[in-house]
Amino acid sequence: QKPHQPKPDWLKVRAPSGENYVRIKNMLGDLKLATVCQEARCPNMGECWSGGTATFMLMGEVCTRGCRFCNVKTGNAKLGLPPVDPFEPEKVAYSISQMKLHYVVITSVDRDDMPDQGSDHFARTVKTIKKLDPNLIVEILTPDFRGDEKLVHHLAGAKPDVFAHNIETVERLTRSVRDPRAGYRQSLRVLESVKEFDPTIYTKTSIMLGLGEKDEEVIQSLKDLRAIGCDVVTFGQYLQPTVKHLKVMEYVTPEKFAEWQKLAESMGFLYVASGPLVRSSYRAGEFFMKGIIE
Ligand code: SF4
Ligand code: SF4
Repeated sequence: QKPHQPKPDWLKVRAPSGENYVRIKNMLGDLKLATVCQEARCPNMGECWSGGTATFMLMGEVCTRGCRFCNVKTGNAKLGLPPVDPFEPEKVAYSISQMKLHYVVITSVDRDDMPDQGSDHFARTVKTIKKLDPNLIVEILTPDFRGDEKLVHHLAGAKPDVFAHNIETVERLTRSVRDPRAGYRQSLRVLESVKEFDPTIYTKTSIMLGLGEKDEEVIQSLKDLRAIGCDVVTFGQYLQPTVKHLKVMEYVTPEKFAEWQKLAESMGFLYVASGPLVRSSYRAGEFFMKGIIE
């Protein structure tokens, strides 16, 4: 691996501000609800929250997986993780309904310790959110459920508007970047089986750049994604969360991100977000505001 490189200027961001941002921040404090945006200290909080988009995490703060790029704590699936709060779907849905958001992203840690890997808990949350606020657009960013189609279909049956599952990187690097229980083909299969179950649900994935991937490998991933009907793709720069995590191999320039955007659009993706600070849920609501989702 290359020695540590200084962060380029384009990765520096301004502190979040704006009326909507302040309103959401105050409400979150009152409702005692945690967002991924805050916990990951996401650089896009100002932009996302001002546009009425926020990301919430279900089923605790400890994951049964240990992906080498991710800063979420890892727990042992065999020893079991703390049980999920059975009232979480109602609590999250109620809080969200009070926040006047346009677009929410609901994600979760992986729960390999639970018999259904959390599929029903996730599905109940989506259904309850939709019941309390039928106009809200709901995107879910899900685990792979170890490729169990029944569990994927159960969650898709809760009718999220967008079903996202991240391949994270190109096929060759999957083993060194993601937890060994994850798989490139398995993740493609998750997205494909959502479309088979309900073709009206939009599917979405995210690819991190800067991990040592080659251009032709990224192009192959885009082809693989189009072949299974994936609608939306996002590209962002991988940033090393701590010294224990994978090193950044390259800081991809904004110009190169713009090229990926153009290429992906020309391949038929309905919506593409690509930039150094883009995260899976970055301005996710834009997809809806541009009229792609009615
Ligand atoms: Fe992080 Fe998701 Fe991997 Fe868990 S499965 S370690 S939350 S990226
Ligand atoms: Fe939150 Fe995602 Fe936006 Fe970051 S990109 S602020 S995590 S909604």
